Amino acid sequence: MEAITGLTLNGTTWTPEFATALDPKKCIGCGRCYKVCPRDVLDLIDRGEDMEMEDEDYDEDDTASVMTLKNAGDCIGCGACGRVCPKGCYTYAALPVQA
Ligand code: SF4
Ligand code: SF4
Repeated sequence: MEAITGLTLNGTTWTPEFATALDPKKCIGCGRCYKVCPRDVLDLIDRGEDMEMEDEDYDEDDTASVMTLKNAGDCIGCGACGRVCPKGCYTYAALPVQA
């Protein structure tokens, strides 16, 4: 698969990897990713029953919120969210070049 690429300031090629999924069962609602995202992609919402955490070490009151990809189409593939996430919630994918 040939992926779309960009250029850094000095002309080096890099491949953006876009956030395609966020696992609500791992997310602790800490908000770290929200703070570093340069786009309007993420939103913290109330955790529904269908998004219960898989880690039972956390108090339900501390994890009453969960991050979501509210506006995934605005992602620029910088990867900042995944670098600060302490729970490894994110999945990324490069974007194939359209024929
Ligand atoms: S990859 Fe970058 S732009 Fe996309 S959701 Fe994460 S921090 Fe935001
Ligand atoms: S950094 Fe990870 S654990 Fe924290 S709110 Fe974002 S996705 Fe959830």
